[in-house]
Amino acid sequence: MSRKKDDTAVIEPKANAHMDPYSSMLSRFYVAAERVGLSPDEREILSRPSEIHIAYLPVAMDDGSVRVFESYRVIHSRALGPGKGGIRYAPEVNMREVMALAAWMTWKCAVVNIPYGGAKGGITCEPKKMSVGELERLTRAYTRAMSEVFGPDKDIPAPDMGTSAREMAWIVDEYSRLHRGNYIPAVVTGKPLELGGSKGRVEATGRGVTTVILQALQRMGRRPDGLTAAVQGFGNVGSITAKFLSQNGIRVVAISDKTGGVYNESGILIHQAIQYRDNHGGTLEGFKGGERITNEQLLTLDVDILVPAALEDQITARNASQIKAWLIAEGANGPTTAEADPILNERGITVIPDILANAGGVIVSYYEWVQNRRGHYYTESEVQERADNTIKQAFDDVFTRAAAHKVSLREAAYLLAVERVVRALRMHGKY
Ligand code: NAD
Repeated sequence: MSRKKDDTAVIEPKANAHMDPYSSMLSRFYVAAERVGLSPDEREILSRPSEIHIAYLPVAMDDGSVRVFESYRVIHSRALGPGKGGIRYAPEVNMREVMALAAWMTWKCAVVNIPYGGAKGGITCEPKKMSVGELERLTRAYTRAMSEVFGPDKDIPAPDMGTSAREMAWIVDEYSRLHRGNYIPAVVTGKPLELGGSKGRVEATGRGVTTVILQALQRMGRRPDGLTAAVQGFGNVGSITAKFLSQNGIRVVAISDKTGGVYNESGILIHQAIQYRDNHGGTLEGFKGGERITNEQLLTLDVDILVPAALEDQITARNASQIKAWLIAEGANGPTTAEADPILNERGITVIPDILANAGGVIVSYYEWVQNRRGHYYTESEVQERADNTIKQAFDDVFTRAAAHKVSLREAAYLLAVERVVRALRMHGKY
């Protein structure tokens, strides 16, 4: 494990007074660990990442200067298979956040029953303020630093906030060069189609969020027509979820991104908003499709469905009592703090947890990896059918478990995940 000398406090597994994402993850894990009956050793192993890699990456900037970027790759667990998880480029990226995101990937892959462990990567940088050339040099430097960490049977990155198919293309190119020129597309997923990407990957997460919302509505005996929704975050997950929700008769009355939000009671024209964003530097700033609102206002709007699809820690003990939606689908990872859980539960709000709701992306990533390894490619409808079946099965498993144990969908999802991971851990044997 390569780790900074003073980082012991950072990986301390006790839930902190301040609920950062890792503490939120731990407090949910501890509840499930207790119920599933993990031994103290098993609890100890799964409450820490199994590996943390940190690299400082010198990058030549366009103005001739050199900047050093801090980067991470965290493997939480390989009990169920190789590490799997995205790479985030954002100014707020820090190690505890990446640790939380890696652990969530372990639970997510387990809930949807795909043969992967959990991992995540991140680079502290501001991608919107960097040129394409700078981003390419940064991504290649990161790939070189992590060349012994990544691998189709070891650890398979994918896009996350601030990265896309473009960065994945640079990774597969650099990684293949480093491995004697053997083309190794299965080292990363979310690639462009031309380089071995899968049909349906770009839309997979938003499609999955919509699928579980529709399933939840069906279980609750509600029809989607005429319901209203607010979506926070208008990137890959948020915009595609908004598009599919409106295609299914749900009126999306509010959307937002980091520049603020827009509200329109008669429904926002999502295709117009997407077009505006794509023609205006990737943001909704200046979009005239409704009245301006803040992100904070969006969360407490009087809507039926709320989809937080931006960042962690948006629904907290502070605003949970003001939320009016009765169904929340977590498009983002960790948008609700553990402290907000009991408030939402007491108020009868159904929360489809992140580790289930946004798993559509990693499911199609899995099928991308399968296609790369077989050298045989599926049609879009084949991918969608497989992905839909996988997430629907996971939703049914979670829903049935929640009903049987009279617990929330989040608790049920954690129970299933922890059970599956610990079974594999036990089969691996003693150390
Ligand atoms: P993205 O970079 O495509 O979009 C992020 C969006 O969030 C942008 O619209 C950005 O403006 C907005 N945002 C940033 N800061 C904000 C703030 N303070 N308030 C409101 N909005 C803000 O990222 P993405 O891939 O859509 O990921 C969004 C979330 O979904 C992340 O939590 C990510 O981990 C999670 N996720 C993504 C995928 C995937 O396939 N892309 C899969 C599973 C989970």
